[in-house]
Amino acid sequence: MQDSRESQSVIILGAGHAGGTAAAALRQAGFEGTITLIGKEPLAPYQRPPLSKEWLKGETDAARLRLKGENFYADAGIDLRLGARATEIDRAGKTVQISNGETLNYGALIIATGSRPRKLNLPGADLAGLLTLRSMADAEALKSVLAAGKSLAIVGGGYIGLEVAASARALGVQVTVIEQEDRLLARVASGPVSAFALGMHQGNGVRVLLSSGVTGFKGSNGRVSAVRLAGGESVSGDAVLIGIGAVPNDEIAQAAGLRCDGGIMVDIAARSSDPDIYAIGDVTKRPLPLYDRMFRLESVPNAVEQARQAAAAIAGAPAPKEEVPWFWSNQYDCKLQIAGLPFDRDRIITRGDPADGKFSVFHLKGDLIQTVEAVSAPADFMAGKRMIANRTKIDPVRLADSAVPIKEVAAE
Ligand code: NAP
Repeated sequence: MQDSRESQSVIILGAGHAGGTAAAALRQAGFEGTITLIGKEPLAPYQRPPLSKEWLKGETDAARLRLKGENFYADAGIDLRLGARATEIDRAGKTVQISNGETLNYGALIIATGSRPRKLNLPGADLAGLLTLRSMADAEALKSVLAAGKSLAIVGGGYIGLEVAASARALGVQVTVIEQEDRLLARVASGPVSAFALGMHQGNGVRVLLSSGVTGFKGSNGRVSAVRLAGGESVSGDAVLIGIGAVPNDEIAQAAGLRCDGGIMVDIAARSSDPDIYAIGDVTKRPLPLYDRMFRLESVPNAVEQARQAAAAIAGAPAPKEEVPWFWSNQYDCKLQIAGLPFDRDRIITRGDPADGKFSVFHLKGDLIQTVEAVSAPADFMAGKRMIANRTKIDPVRLADSAVPIKEVAAE
């Protein structure tokens, strides 16, 4: 347990999935000092993934999105301060300046400030009706424009763009997706999965424009009416959603002189270049021992894993077991699950037939699996994730044969 008086007080900056989980994990790990959790949104920590899916479709409500029950923070002795933001970290004095003018002392500080949607700095970008999606407030604004017969233009064919496209179609909205790459999900998925996603969205009535650059936005009476494309064409929309990636909120760490390089650099205990300051979630660039490199992961499983790493280190509890990074996305009735990252792969093997709506793509480096992308194939996802973690050598011929049970593809 803690050995100095300073370490009896932990401040967490950011009350998202990472920050909220860290507060709870500290108590679970036996930390008995004070915990202050500071969030700039007016809401207690909540789950963001349903915002683009169940929440937009009206299938869940704000209460069910909460990470913890209403009384959890008070019961656990966690001082939850909402609608407040940290403006400065003084590392020498071990204090944090808060937007309301308060100065708080810390023994250990956890930065969990997350990421924000990338903006498109183009003519017309300040028109009303031009939306991004990250927070509950963003989701409310988006939901208010999604009604049957309305049209939505989406810039970016990544996770945000495609999940919202599927939800909007379910609500009877006309949808056009504009993607600058020559395939959907270009940053996060392989060719076969991109091709499957294209067919699935087109089959559900989405107009998809690939290799299409955006040059600006047209409006009338201060409200967006269309997206201008590089080819001269324009795509009309009652609203426009921009989903072109996220940037880490690491400015406060940079200003404090912490080592940052496209995110706050941390070690496997989520510790930054200052031993009393930890950073977790989207804002970090972290080691991936399985892949022998540093990387910034934007996912809930990563936020939870790093929250546990930081909590264990601060509480003096055993470090949690290393996890395989994983991601999921639900669109229409398809469940995409990805485990691992496709670094250094030398080939891919498709198992099953995309035409059946169920298949998986394995990325191999030699006889080791680097990544599995499973499309409505949860058994392949689970087995693939386990084999990545265990560095199981597989037999590629058996792996490619979907008649061979996935549990029997290990090399003999
Ligand atoms: P994303 O997955 O990185 O996809 C953004 C896509 O937009 C990329 O293909 C990008 O292409 C394209 N793009 C960039 N600039 C463009 C432009 N000017 N015109 C047209 N297309 C453009 O990011 P996202 O969908 O915005 O998601 C934001 C964050 O939320 C990410 O952290 C994501 O992981 C997270 N999220 C995750 C999930 C999930 O895991 N299920 C769901 C929702 C959101 P380039 O690569 O060429 O830039």
